[in-house]
Amino acid sequence: MSAILNTYNRKKISFKKGKGSFLYSTNGKKYLDFVQGIAVNCLGHSNSYLNKAIYNQSKKLWHVSNVFTIPEQEQLAKRLRQKTFADYVCFQNSGAEATEAAIKFARRYFYSKGLTKKNRILCIKNSFHGRTLATIFASGSKKSTEGFYPKVEGFDHFNFGDHKQLEKSVTSKTAAIMVETIMGEGGIKVIPDYCLRGLRKLCNKKNILLILDEVQCGIGRSGKFLAFEHAKIKPDIAPIAKGIGGGFPIGAVLVNKKVASSMKPGTHGSTFGGNPLAMSVGNGVLDIMFKKGFLNEVTKKGNYFKKELIKIRNKFPNIIKEVRGKGLLIGLVLNINQVKFINQLIEHKFLTVKAAENTVRLLPPLNVTRAELNMALKIIIKVCESYK
Ligand SMILES: *Cc1c(COP(=O)(O)O)cnc(C)c1O
Repeated sequence: MSAILNTYNRKKISFKKGKGSFLYSTNGKKYLDFVQGIAVNCLGHSNSYLNKAIYNQSKKLWHVSNVFTIPEQEQLAKRLRQKTFADYVCFQNSGAEATEAAIKFARRYFYSKGLTKKNRILCIKNSFHGRTLATIFASGSKKSTEGFYPKVEGFDHFNFGDHKQLEKSVTSKTAAIMVETIMGEGGIKVIPDYCLRGLRKLCNKKNILLILDEVQCGIGRSGKFLAFEHAKIKPDIAPIAKGIGGGFPIGAVLVNKKVASSMKPGTHGSTFGGNPLAMSVGNGVLDIMFKKGFLNEVTKKGNYFKKELIKIRNKFPNIIKEVRGKGLLIGLVLNINQVKFINQLIEHKFLTVKAAENTVRLLPPLNVTRAELNMALKIIIKVCESYK
């Protein structure tokens, strides 16, 4: 019997190594991996450039406290500042820590303006922002909060797509609206560009901060470095994580000047956040992702993949209901049981992961090849055909 606390429905497959888009199981089988640690390994498994980056750093220095100046951290922050809306960056170790820090920063901003009652955060019902106490109540889902009361106060909710309810939910106490630009766990639900622009306008009008959770959809996944760039808007705060470490745990919060102005030494911190070892990988990820043409390739491959998947949907409408997503963040909404379908894909040595609304997520590494995408398409067709 496993000594691991029973918090996951784990598949009985283990892996001994990975390379690029593939995983090799302990019992000698090779799998095409479109889970990639759930959009974490953005450059695939065991990327040789990242291997070198982390190895070279490991010989010099792993960890020093944030009471010292950390050049590798300064460098990564500067590069994020150059390529995004951010004026400042605060490093954490995970997505939940980043979203929770985002909540803290938003509240602190209005506190510093003397608006101490303007502290509520408005979120989408059944969204996902992590598993800390605050972030499960931010997500507002019954499933994730059950058994974990008393409630962490300060969160209000509206239903995805319900503009009237959104406007009604905004009060003088609303400090921030926090949404995922593309809802990952929620089933790859894309907030349309005109809605993101509407959110920005609403926030400007009502003196509210806009927090866009880019933990899953950010770092090139959608074809832009951050997914809200498609809508040509800027949030005030954006938590990032998953892809930025390419498999090493890194979280970060990007903030604009306005939000940064309320923070001073002692208001937030992290023991591990931004240590040299983590930063060496983060900088390595950006070396590759900021290369000219890299994100264009993600868009092209994503468009191709989606177009081919829509063809499959049109051929098997009883099995695939809808193809959702942007770039290489793709969801297949199924008309049949999602878990059964995923298990059938596994029998064909193809790994995918579920999301809400009976969705199967396809999350290849961003440097996936066309041949690998074609391999995935072939397997999906084969499994669809098996239902005839
Ligand atoms: C994964 C995820 C988180 C939580 O990240 P952890 O690293 O698991 O804490 C938060 N927000 C979104 C949108 C995510 O996809």
